[in-house]
Amino acid sequence: MHAPVRKSDLTYTDISGEEMTLIDTQDTAGADAAADPIYRLTGVTRTYQQRGRIVRALAGVDVEITEGDFVAIQGPTGGGKSTLLQLLGALDRPTAGSVVLGGTDIATASPAELGRLRAEEIGFVFQGFNLMPTLTASENVDMALEPLRLAKDDRATRVEEALAHVGLADRADHRPGELSGGQQQRVAIARAIVKRPRVLLADEPTGNLDESMRDEILAVLETLNSEGLTLIVVTHDSAVAKRARRRLRLDKGTVRDITS
Ligand code: ADP
Ligand code: MG
Repeated sequence: MHAPVRKSDLTYTDISGEEMTLIDTQDTAGADAAADPIYRLTGVTRTYQQRGRIVRALAGVDVEITEGDFVAIQGPTGGGKSTLLQLLGALDRPTAGSVVLGGTDIATASPAELGRLRAEEIGFVFQGFNLMPTLTASENVDMALEPLRLAKDDRATRVEEALAHVGLADRADHRPGELSGGQQQRVAIARAIVKRPRVLLADEPTGNLDESMRDEILAVLETLNSEGLTLIVVTHDSAVAKRARRRLRLDKGTVRDITS
């Protein structure tokens, strides 16, 4: 089952600076062939051993994610959402099945290749921000560039741009303790996008935030998506899910498209 591509003629600039146009493939036969998915998951199972018992966190997930989409993943606690996101983030491998990102199967790729995917292609945002408390906003964002071996000037420019992108140009020298929760999460988003990834994964990004801060984060995420970044967001927050273009429900390790 595949949701149709609903994006039409969206032009954006890709990582290499080239202008690209996404072609509207809605309602065309063979749309799946026309738009290459960014992710293709086939028969994905993930089991854990827990005190001698086997826990089946994912029980045969088949799903494709279209490049440029904004996908919300919903479902009850224990349904497998974080497990799925960790597989998409190349932080974990499936017990069986394949998780193909671009041309790489995360199930079988070498540890070095998984490291490269995480460093270059995937931005990850967590519920708890996960910032280094002793570092400034700039330094926290800069950390994500360490593996990319850029020139120092280029690095500084990118950090500045990323902070400006989330509306925090004037908070570059603040430490996390001197920022609101919403601002901290925006620093975390800047850290995730500074590498110019192909996809942004977020696990309950508004879970620790009040309503007004949630709206800040939602606005930033929507801007990034409108610029062409693929977003996959695990969320209990119906306000976030409502803004997604596609909704998936994960319950007992199986996925269902509930976009309607
Ligand atoms: P969700 O994020 O939807 O709440 P999770 O993916 O965290 O769900 O968990 C799915 C199932 O897998 C749960 O039953 C959970 O207890 C189990 N699980 C998750 N991670 C581990 C782990 N590292 N070891 C053992 N069991 C785990
Ligand atoms: Mg979870």
